[in-house]
Amino acid sequence: MTKYLVIGAVLLLALTVVIYDRWRTARTMKRLDDMLTAAINGSFSEKNFDESRLSALESRLWRYLTASALSERNVREQKDQISALISDISHQTKTPVANLQLYAQLLSEQPLTPQGKDCAAAISAQAEKLQNLIEALVKTSRLETGILALHPQPGEISPAVERAVTQYAARAGEKGITLTVGQKEGSAVFDLKWTEEAVCNLLDNAVKYTPPGGTVTVEVKNYELFSTIRVTDTGPGISEEEQAKIFGRFYRAPGAWQAEGVGIGLYLTRQIAEKQGGYVKVESALGKGSVFSLFLPRP
Ligand code: ADP
Repeated sequence: MTKYLVIGAVLLLALTVVIYDRWRTARTMKRLDDMLTAAINGSFSEKNFDESRLSALESRLWRYLTASALSERNVREQKDQISALISDISHQTKTPVANLQLYAQLLSEQPLTPQGKDCAAAISAQAEKLQNLIEALVKTSRLETGILALHPQPGEISPAVERAVTQYAARAGEKGITLTVGQKEGSAVFDLKWTEEAVCNLLDNAVKYTPPGGTVTVEVKNYELFSTIRVTDTGPGISEEEQAKIFGRFYRAPGAWQAEGVGIGLYLTRQIAEKQGGYVKVESALGKGSVFSLFLPRP
């Protein structure tokens, strides 16, 4: 009888140990899961977990996540500071740049030697370039930090393309470039305003770099996962080596110095594409023109 009682007690104890162990493992797994879920959502805070009550494994994960949350916060704060600094620079330079343009204008209205006139025109052009540069900087920094958000919606692409083409028709005409729209049926999930800006950047380059007598064609096409807006030109083309660099911030190819620009258009275009789940691609060869394609996700 006593023997059975002892066996029973041992079995009960073993069962209790197994149940307790399972409960403890489940609790640890749940806490690890909670920590990881919070880290993935970006809501992890060391304060939500009491370190003194964590197991060794949980404690190590807690330390790791606390350190990454801290460094993420630092990066975010630094980005915000840079963005605020750029906004300040933009705000504080507005009046001096506007004054520069005004004085250059007043100067050009004075009786000047031809050399003096050239200098006044150069001051005006440089002031305008500075203004464009500052505006581009503010725009990219606001896009990067998420202050300017994109709002992609499903819709037809052609209105964005047509509006962009209308803006560049006169400039193309003045330069003797034929600007045409080919096939234009296509739909995507995209932000109308920003996509129009991206297409404008591609058209601006196509018209700017294509010599008089050339052609620029815009087409829209649906594919299985993406729709494309393709801008084809008969310009100077871009070497393979340059193609890898032209999407960089402030990068201008060595041959582009005569043309106006600050080297931000393609960088911005890529940002706009990526912020809405798309991408930009270039196909080109020196002397053979270029094709820039903006891919946007299908609805
Ligand atoms: P920007 O035109 O102000 O220089 P972008 O970022 O728009 O700046 O373009 C970067 C560089 O890519 C340009 O300096 C130019 O060398 C090259 N590029 C862009 N588009 C074309 C094009 N359609 N044809 C030839 N070169 C181009």
